[in-house]
Amino acid sequence: MQQFKEYIPIPEELWSFETGAPMQCCALCDCDLFEPGRNYLVEKAFKGSEVIFEYAMCLDCRDKLQGELSLQSRKLIQNYFEEHVDLEARRMECLKAYGLDYSKWVQQCLVKHKPRSECTEFQVYGWCVDRDLVFTGFPYMLSSDCIDDLLELISEESMGAINDFSEKIFGVDLPKDLLVI
Ligand SMILES: [Zn+2]
Repeated sequence: MQQFKEYIPIPEELWSFETGAPMQCCALCDCDLFEPGRNYLVEKAFKGSEVIFEYAMCLDCRDKLQGELSLQSRKLIQNYFEEHVDLEARRMECLKAYGLDYSKWVQQCLVKHKPRSECTEFQVYGWCVDRDLVFTGFPYMLSSDCIDDLLELISEESMGAINDFSEKIFGVDLPKDLLVI
């Protein structure tokens, strides 16, 4: 397993709004996320201070879902990020400027650099290993402008895969702007 030197207990913002505690189960396969060494993604979407949706997904399920996106969609998304942000350089800059202060890492859009206070809708993403948040390319925040850009890159076919996934975890309450990246 990859060893992480920079980590903190999962900050409250990434806890489940529903339970008031860190999310313990993968939204898709229901595996125990607190199992030592388990890698997973937490995503939460906000409108102002209101939580629109939230989920945690283990690495295996995330890989599976990404595998269902078309190669072209994956490439376009990858290119979009590569064009706008150097995640490794950003990681080093943030570590230097903010240390392990989670809130600073997610204070502005990763791509658009729009401050959070000016975003009506945004999503935060954190990478966790069992009970900790690790500082890798994550955590970051994406403004709804950025999400809109990304959604445009996704083919209809890939959108179908995302909607199937979305239906599995959210039932009929499909978030329109769910984006797993
Ligand atoms: Zn899973």
